[in-house]
Amino acid sequence: MDEAVTDLPPGRECGTCTLCCKLFPVPELEKPAGRWCRHIAQGRGCGIHETRPEICRAFFCQWVYNADLGPEWKPEVSRFVLSIYPGSNSLVVTADPGAPAAWRAEPYLRNLRRWAEAALAQGDQVLVMHGARATAILPDREVELGEIGAGDRIATYRGPGGYDVKRIPAGAANG
Ligand code: SF4
Ligand code: SF4
Repeated sequence: MDEAVTDLPPGRECGTCTLCCKLFPVPELEKPAGRWCRHIAQGRGCGIHETRPEICRAFFCQWVYNADLGPEWKPEVSRFVLSIYPGSNSLVVTADPGAPAAWRAEPYLRNLRRWAEAALAQGDQVLVMHGARATAILPDREVELGEIGAGDRIATYRGPGGYDVKRIPAGAANG
């Protein structure tokens, strides 16, 4: 959303990508998730760059931050946005509703599974979000968790057959 921050890896620029301006909500503009912002100038970025909301100024996706991710991971190419869930080290893959299964293609899925293995070992997660619906990535499979409501939690644990995951509804015991 923003190209003014300077402490980013060299060569990382949003350029013609604007996918986060579609996928994420901007409450200040009453812009819902999954729809293009009315201020987008397609292929050129933000049409209100000087006065854009703070939430837009603050956000960069993981492709911008992480120089190890190749051009195939740039959101306008991959059709999903990688970000870190606030307050955690969990990786969130926000899927473009126009290409909801793009993350299942390679090289994406094998890397997401690999990162999930490392994340789970540290108590973190790799999740794909389709709006409010979540899919958990495990090292050996994906698990559909359904809609994640306010206060719901996603619990991952290691069982005899490997990692498993479940959604714990708000107010429920850990079970
Ligand atoms: S998704 Fe990433 S690369 Fe694309 S515009 Fe947003 S911050 Fe920039
Ligand atoms: S205000 Fe600008 S940066 Fe923010 S979502 Fe809209 S087009 Fe993107």
